[in-house]
Parts: sequence; C-alpha cells; structure tokens
Amino acid sequence: MIPMVDLKKQYLSLKDEIDPAIQQALGATQYILGPNVSGFEQEAADYLGVKHTIGVASGTDALHLALIAAGIKEGDEVITTPFTFIATAEAIKYVGAIPVFVDIDPDTFNIDAAQVRAAITPATRAILPVHLFGQPADMSALQTIAKEHKLLMVEDCAQSFGADIDGDQSGSLSIAGCFSFFPSKNLGCFGDGGLISTNSDEIAEHLKVLRNHGSWKRYHHSELGFNSRLDELQAVVLRAKLKHIDEYNQQRRRVAHRYTTALSQLPDITPPHEDGKGTHVYHQYTLLSEQRDEIMQALQAKDIACAVYYPIPLHQQEVFSEDCANLSLPVTEKIVSQCMSLPIYPELEDEQIDIILDVIKGVVLG
Ligand SMILES: *Cc1c(COP(=O)(O)O)cnc(C)c1O
Repeated sequence: MIPMVDLKKQYLSLKDEIDPAIQQALGATQYILGPNVSGFEQEAADYLGVKHTIGVASGTDALHLALIAAGIKEGDEVITTPFTFIATAEAIKYVGAIPVFVDIDPDTFNIDAAQVRAAITPATRAILPVHLFGQPADMSALQTIAKEHKLLMVEDCAQSFGADIDGDQSGSLSIAGCFSFFPSKNLGCFGDGGLISTNSDEIAEHLKVLRNHGSWKRYHHSELGFNSRLDELQAVVLRAKLKHIDEYNQQRRRVAHRYTTALSQLPDITPPHEDGKGTHVYHQYTLLSEQRDEIMQALQAKDIACAVYYPIPLHQQEVFSEDCANLSLPVTEKIVSQCMSLPIYPELEDEQIDIILDVIKGVVLG
C-alpha cells in the first residue's frame, strides 16, 4: 500500500521534538496568540525574507483577509486561474469581487500571463496567481502587467512554501503571500492553519486587527473582523517542521526527478515541466496522459494511491455558473481530462517509486 502522502512517517521523525514542545505549551496555557505563534511568525518572516507574517486559521482565511486588507471590494474584478483549489476563488467572492478566470499555460499549468493581459478591463483591481503544485507562476511577467495597469497582486502560496524565484521566496513578491498549513501541504501542521506574508507595515497591522475581531485594543472594535488566529499548538508543530522545510522540498525534488527520468522515456506520458523561472517544490507530481484512466485503474489495483487534481476547473463549477456563463478555456479543459497526480512526499523511498513506475510502464508499453 502506497498512500499519496505519509503523514505518520514525518510525525515519527519529529516526535521527540514535537511531543515535549506540545507538553510545554499545554502547561504554559497561553493558548491563543501565545509565544509559539509569535515565534513562528518571526521565524517564517526570516525564512521568507519578508518584514511581517501573520498567522491565521487557514489558507482560505489567509486569502480572504489578504483581499480585504488589499482593499478589494464589491464589483472589483480579480483575475485568477481556473485550475486550482476552490478556495482561491471563494476568497474573491467573500469580498464581493468578481473572479475572472483566464486560461493556463499548457506546460506549467500556471496562469498564462498573456491571457491575464487580455482580460484586463476598467474594473480589474487585482491579479491572484497560484503557484500550482509548488511551481512558481511567471511572477516577472505578472509583475510587469500589474505595474503597467496599476493592479494589485496577491499570491496564493498554499502549495509553494519554500519555492524560490530567482533568489526571492514565493509570497515575498506581492503585497500579500497566502499560505496554507493543511496537513497534506508541503509545510503542514496537525489541523488547519494559515499565514500571510507581507512587506507592508500597514497591511500587517490591518491583518492583525482583522484576524482578532477587528480589535486594535482589547474590547475596542474599529471594523468588522473575524476570529481567525493560527492556533498555538499548530504553531509548535510548524516551528519544528519549518527547520526542515528545505530538506523536505529537496526530497520532493528527488522523488520527482526519479519519476521524470523514467517517465520521459515512455510513450503517451508528459511528465511535469519545470520552466526554470523558479524552483518547483513538487507539492504534487502531476503528469498528463491520454491513458490516464487506465493508469489510475492499474495503480489502484496494486493498492497505490493516485488522484486527479483537479477534475473540474473552477469556471465549470456550479457555484460560479453565474460568473462564468458560456466561458470556455480550452487549455484548462484539455488538461483536466488528462492530468493525474502520483504519490509524493519526502519519505517516499526509491524502491516504492520504482514499483509505481513499473505499474505505469505495464500500462503504456502494454
Ligand atoms: C489548500 C489550498 C487552499 C486553502 O487552504 P486551507 O488551509 O485548506 O483553507 C487555497 N489555495 C490552494 C491552491 C490550496 O491548495
């Protein structure tokens, strides 16, 4: 049995560090916005090379609060990708804005900068790229467009913690980088958690108010806020894992490289493409094949997990039917019919990878 991700192995490797630190935090009883949250925020800001990070309750909340702090409002258009997890566009709708989905690059699966440019209208306020599967979007092209058209940019970094873009970290190249620590993410905690990175003092202050009921001082509420704080116990876990994130991402790249070396020799398989504009940290390893369904069946028959991220693009989701009437995005639609993701996690062993590869060879070499 090979799972998509083995959280137990990672926990056991850190148990001697995490368990006593949790015990310590339990005894300290500062359960809300305690020293581990502020400690993690400082360590994450140092790692990401930004002035501030603000811990929040989830990646979805990170996006939602970041869009509020960026001043995105009712009727604003936010250009984003249809090939992502639903939360990216949910956050746009939460602030009353309109998600404008544009097609993706067929090689990287990230938002296509030329399509972004073509979708700009007088109502456009922001671009919301996703660093999908751990590969940074084309930030330099997007930054140029944002500058030219005076648009804001917010990054969805839920899958890209530690991905480097020419010496800068994902999440450090826009007004707000939004991270998720959902357990299966490449930096994951033991429940829900999220983080926003920013270099703006003003946005950081606003986010601290927003996550804490709109309160700038105890029982003084300046605006409608939220209860959305990173949990103290989750911060303990994240502090332990942050120390290993580079090694985890390197191990993910080792797994990806072994897959790609073998798969690029096979007919009807397109392994993931690295465009070299940033370091792909392989939150997911996603290939294309016309024989996708046969490959998935063969893997499942051998008790090997595999998944389709994502089977239905956002512009075809019922919840967005009014925003997307008659919208067709051919590149995305073709990719969702051929994409599949293989197990990938730092602890995945070469022997396990080879077993997976043998099953795939059995299908495509027939
Ligand atoms: C996981 C994810 C989110 C949401 O994060 P949660 O912590 O689950 O709320 C947002 N965007 C993308 C691209 C994601 O993968």
